[in-house]
Amino acid sequence: MPELHYHRCGETSHDVGALLRGAPRERRVFPAGVFRYDDGERRVLVDTGYAGRSWGTGASGWAYRLLLPPRVRPGETIAEQVDPSTVTHVVLTHLHPDHLGGVRDLPHATFVLSAGLVETLRAPRLREGVLPGLLPPWFDSAPRIVVDRFDDEHHGLATHDLFGDGSLCLVDLPGHARGHVGVLVQGGCCSPATRPGAAICSARSSGCAPCPAPSATTTPPRPARPSDCSPRRPPGCGCASPTIRTPRGWTCCGPTEDRAGLRRRALAAALP
Ligand SMILES: [Zn+2]
Repeated sequence: MPELHYHRCGETSHDVGALLRGAPRERRVFPAGVFRYDDGERRVLVDTGYAGRSWGTGASGWAYRLLLPPRVRPGETIAEQVDPSTVTHVVLTHLHPDHLGGVRDLPHATFVLSAGLVETLRAPRLREGVLPGLLPPWFDSAPRIVVDRFDDEHHGLATHDLFGDGSLCLVDLPGHARGHVGVLVQGGCCSPATRPGAAICSARSSGCAPCPAPSATTTPPRPARPSDCSPRRPPGCGCASPTIRTPRGWTCCGPTEDRAGLRRRALAAALP
């Protein structure tokens, strides 16, 4: 039976008031999460967490560490939690430093990247927060799967069936970074008899629900429609753009997000 596990691989902290409109000015901890999917044949990591060693990324790395000081406790790197020789695939959801730190320790894996991530690596922009120096010299020649199409659909999301068996699908998740993807795991951690549907992991935080209750997933949430987007704000909402109501409550819509992206995000928020 497939299993889905979460590993905390370091953390950073930041003033949340500077990140989110209307949020209180207080420092919060943001864990660097890695998900591990085992199906008996493959061991797939979703991202690799922070690096535990010195970064060697020059002034850009120094500035990042000043703004978002990483903290990796002894035993927290992915290589200390999972035997690197057993990892068959690594999906990189995007290229920020809290996702790349463990790549150096995984020389035997096949790396899965979206075409957008490959383009980002080819020509990183200053504001994208990518530190290519975190990647090892062998990364460009490592086995690689590049996904350039998301033309399947699961739960209303644009996806790509990575292994062709429906077990693990990449989800196009525009907004946070160029080429950003999530991973949709079918029946990842629950009994096959319950067929729970899906857990979605973006590994930006520990926000993935690794084991949804069958009762919450046997009736899929009603897909959100663009017409659901409302100029109204729920009490206390600090966002300047329209809002959309999902089964989990109100979600702030990005001001530049197109309707398809809005619908995808609303659905992602509705998934357990
Ligand atoms: Zn990020």
